[in-house]
Amino acid sequence: MNELETYKAAFDSAQDGIIICNHHGKILLVNRRVETLFGYSEKELIAQPIEILIPRRFHHHHVDVRDHYLKQPSLKEMETRKELNACRKDGSEFFVEISLSPIQLKDRMIVTTVVRDITQKKEAERKIEVQNKLLLDQNQELERFAYIASHDLQEPLRTVSNYVTLFNKKYEGQLDKNADLYLEYISSATLQMQLLIRDLLTYSKIGFDKSRNDVDCNLIVKAIIADLNKAIAESGAEFMIAPLPVVIGNMVELKSLFQNLISNAIKYRNKIGNPLISIAAVEHKNEYLFSITDNGIGIESKFYERIFIIFQKLHGQKEYDGTGIGLAQSKKIVEHHGGKIWVESEVGKGSTFYFTIAKELNKQIKEINTN
Ligand code: ADP
Repeated sequence: MNELETYKAAFDSAQDGIIICNHHGKILLVNRRVETLFGYSEKELIAQPIEILIPRRFHHHHVDVRDHYLKQPSLKEMETRKELNACRKDGSEFFVEISLSPIQLKDRMIVTTVVRDITQKKEAERKIEVQNKLLLDQNQELERFAYIASHDLQEPLRTVSNYVTLFNKKYEGQLDKNADLYLEYISSATLQMQLLIRDLLTYSKIGFDKSRNDVDCNLIVKAIIADLNKAIAESGAEFMIAPLPVVIGNMVELKSLFQNLISNAIKYRNKIGNPLISIAAVEHKNEYLFSITDNGIGIESKFYERIFIIFQKLHGQKEYDGTGIGLAQSKKIVEHHGGKIWVESEVGKGSTFYFTIAKELNKQIKEINTN
């Protein structure tokens, strides 16, 4: 096999279609793959304008683009892969990705076009899009359900609670001991259910308010520490707070995010020693990364994911109060701000909760809201 035959064999065996055109867009050479992709024989393509491979409705535009390109074949355009509609001999269309390379010969310019059939890639993308849309719809449906259910359950529950209190007042000590005990159980279960429903309602409302402002995280943390003064005094908690950034976000949601994480850092403290809590932030190109570190009881690594699920608690109500919604709420808030939340921890030594707040997404939401 001589050198030319070797080149030709390599050219023909390429997985992508290769088309070489002159500077008028006339086809000079095609490889085998072009024949199988488009259903034309090599003979039928040679000397034809490249537009033969493009749906008719794009011909006019394509000629303009081609002329422009040939006048100034920029490196940028050359490197950029483009997705286009292609047309087979039988008129059927399919998606291709093309890349163009101009080659300056001594006396003229030729252009090599590499064509890749991306039908399967497009189909996969379409399927993902449909799945995403379905998931989004289901999510919205669930959120609506959680909102309506928790909202509507409040009223009858309030009635039950009122009547239990009334019943207690009127009949306490008049019935036998068991009846008093049962009533106490009913009262505490009703109270617990009211807390759960209140939290579920708050949870389902996260994201309703799309407003975004410049939020100074230093001020937020300061306000929370003031709000938690009783718990801080009782526990002897000490704070190390690094300078925090001003981020674009929803003020109310970000406040409850910090509030959840800081109050957990106090609540889940070690029995020995004072709670030491550090709060810091690092600015990255696309996001801010915050960390809240405590020297508390820590979390086993097998629970790192579970703690962010709604109503999941690792301890009984008697050990630590709470409904197990704080971290699920935090996750939802962070996700609404285009970020992620996770924990790293060592049992008995403490935990660090990390979360990120996206820059661009929140800026865009802010712009949409102010326009
Ligand atoms: P709650 O505090 O109401 O139980 P959360 O959703 O805030 O609910 O937390 C879920 C679980 O994660 C808690 O029950 C606790 O076991 C664990 N947890 C949260 N924060 C910490 C922390 N800073 N240190 C250790 N465990 C924690």
